[in-house]
Amino acid sequence: MRKFIVGNWKMNGTSNDLDEIAAISAVAQLYTLVDSALCVPATLITRAVTAVGAFPIGGQDCHMQRAGAHMGCVSADMLSDAGAVLTIIGHSERRAAQHERDADIRAKAEAAKAAGLQAILCVGETLEEREAGKALDIVLGQVAHSLPEAAAGAWLSVAYEPVWAIGTGRVAEPSDVADMHAAIRAALVARYGPEGEKIRILYGGSMNGDNAAQLLAVPNVDGGLIGGASLTAAKFQPILVAA
Ligand code: PGA
Repeated sequence: MRKFIVGNWKMNGTSNDLDEIAAISAVAQLYTLVDSALCVPATLITRAVTAVGAFPIGGQDCHMQRAGAHMGCVSADMLSDAGAVLTIIGHSERRAAQHERDADIRAKAEAAKAAGLQAILCVGETLEEREAGKALDIVLGQVAHSLPEAAAGAWLSVAYEPVWAIGTGRVAEPSDVADMHAAIRAALVARYGPEGEKIRILYGGSMNGDNAAQLLAVPNVDGGLIGGASLTAAKFQPILVAA
């Protein structure tokens, strides 16, 4: 399976950063054996698409409904109209701060699919949940309840992101990543049959140029969702090299 390396800019980036976005896309397009993409703030999507040419630009969320009276929200169709070809959904920062529930995220996945977007659906346990020995139950529960009825590798990826590893510099142990990704893979195959083998499972949480090779070598780690280390081409490139 081709690795999928996705940058996640979160709430960073203004027009001053369009040159960096262009630099990231130029570097990423050198690695033709790796799939890559960059998810930017909604305000930048159209200008980013203009700056990068054929490189895939994504959003970071979408509303579960396709249009209507939802102040300040952005629909999957709007992302697509702006030029995005993918979006992240269910990120732990949104599950926590915007109180997104599994059922919401599942509806967002359906909306993304209907709008023709690829979706990267995030799951992951908190530190408390891991320390209580509940990591596997929590993550498999999220997989069971936030993934859509029908899924295919062509449009859906899952990102396992332990919450305690996001932005902290603390990376999950490769053996824990291996266990979790194997369990997610088994759940995908049990639910979707052979298609479950084709859904890429990304790891996210403090992945960078120093640890990417080790993490990407773990079985069932089909790529990475990268926050901090995606903000510059210089930091992103070593991850593409590792992939
Ligand atoms: P990080 O963020 O790489 O900065 O830890 C990853 C993410 O939240 O997707």
